[in-house]
Amino acid sequence: MSEVKKKSSWLWPLGLMATGLAGAAVMAFRGCWHSKMSWPVRAQEHSYQVCMGCGIKRLFDVDEFRAYGPYSYDLNRLIAWDRAHGGKVPREVPPSEKRPA
Ligand SMILES: [Zn+2]
Repeated sequence: MSEVKKKSSWLWPLGLMATGLAGAAVMAFRGCWHSKMSWPVRAQEHSYQVCMGCGIKRLFDVDEFRAYGPYSYDLNRLIAWDRAHGGKVPREVPPSEKRPA
């Protein structure tokens, strides 16, 4: 006599999971491929670029004129990474001392 009303309760966690995953993906990438980077900005003896789309930062090698290293929203983290990897810190060399006599 008892009617077993099995609600599709499993749909709930599934739906929540999908929403959570989508949210996490948006949080991580914000649908941005960092293809449009700003001009290099100098800060704390380092140069870096900022993504025009999401604001993520990346170190920039002014000598070779290219970005390098990981992406991060935290500049201090990038600088720490740079130092940990030998640190290609661009130094200000006075023009008179640039070429040895
Ligand atoms: Zn971006």
